[in-house]
Amino acid sequence: MSSYPQDHKNYLNQHSLSFILNELGEEREHYFNAVSAPIIQTSNFVFKKVDDLGKALEDEMDGYLYSRGLNPTVEILRKKLAALDGAEDCLVFNSGASAIFAGVFANVRSGDHIVSVKAPYTWAQRMFDVILPRFNITTTYIDGTEIENWNDATQQNTTIYYLESPNSWDFALQDLQAVARVAQAKKITTIIDNSYCTPLYQRPIEMGIDLALQTATKYIGGHSDTLGGALSGSREMIKKIFDSEYLNIGSGIQPFNAWLLIRGLRTLPARLERITKTTTEVLKFLKKHPKVENVIFPFDESFPQYELAKRQMRGACGLFTIILKTRSRAEIVNFCESLQHIMMAVSWGGHESLVMPKCTGIKKEEFDPDNREHRYVRMYVGLEEASYLIDDLSQALDKSN
Ligand SMILES: *Cc1c(COP(=O)(O)O)cnc(C)c1O
Repeated sequence: MSSYPQDHKNYLNQHSLSFILNELGEEREHYFNAVSAPIIQTSNFVFKKVDDLGKALEDEMDGYLYSRGLNPTVEILRKKLAALDGAEDCLVFNSGASAIFAGVFANVRSGDHIVSVKAPYTWAQRMFDVILPRFNITTTYIDGTEIENWNDATQQNTTIYYLESPNSWDFALQDLQAVARVAQAKKITTIIDNSYCTPLYQRPIEMGIDLALQTATKYIGGHSDTLGGALSGSREMIKKIFDSEYLNIGSGIQPFNAWLLIRGLRTLPARLERITKTTTEVLKFLKKHPKVENVIFPFDESFPQYELAKRQMRGACGLFTIILKTRSRAEIVNFCESLQHIMMAVSWGGHESLVMPKCTGIKKEEFDPDNREHRYVRMYVGLEEASYLIDDLSQALDKSN
């Protein structure tokens, strides 16, 4: 296993980010030298020779046959995303949830056991709690911040460690290299949800994780106009998933959505850079505000795993949690509803700044101000000016009581 981040630098020298985003996978001479990739909106591909058709049927990953398998527009995106992840191969799905489903489902059999970080993304948890038990597959949730917990929760029949680092509410991290080492010794497959960082800010495969997935709906698309998901890993693991779950569920991304994601990728570094700067300014304002108890953000010095964050992540931006200093649910509601420009919605990663209060999922009578989680308001910083966001936050905090 090569170490990190030295290897990352070597890799980027050989496959510079600009090359990946502007050239890799694109064969412009085949489509009139157009700069922008074509949307090959076709279900099937024609053959002149019976034997060629036969060969294509034998291995759908070897050529174009039917767009539930390979499609030329999707191929461009697939190559770029694999290279960004530093992975041998990648599959692109029509949502992050379907990437999670295929990655997990491909690596379990009836009777198996999964160890997962507690409170993973909603639909990962729903799969562990509702779907997999029907096949006699059980999941143990752990506090993934302590490496012993992975060891302690492992059973004879454990086949998957499921990671999400950082988590998208409390931003808890796992030491990826350490968890990978434990898993490798026990021949357990590691799968990580890397949505928060994107491969620009964290490269789990290089730290020994087997499968790295991300929702492309968030930062990759970047404009809140399409869903997508990606799953990267070794050629062998990806081929196995392609031949089975990917083709069988038919959850591959559609060409037009793939095209939107290629377009999003072109500006990913520029957007992350901008969002990183703006996030720093917004956090500085919030941390000084008397109505804010604290913020949770991996690159904030008050973050309990700050050292680990700095060690394994190349950056952090956009998404963080504000803990409001209040005893009243109404004040949280007032704050959210008083925002004039920052919108209230699920999701993140787009051009628009958003808030999402935790109390929306908690019954009014069950609201407990002593439970700090109940006072969480998750914020996502989009592409607006920092002053525009700070002014809006300021007037809404003033109005909250
Ligand atoms: C949104 C999200 C997903 C799911 O992605 P979809 O594209 O919405 O299916 C998975 N993980 C995290 C952390 C997310 O925020």
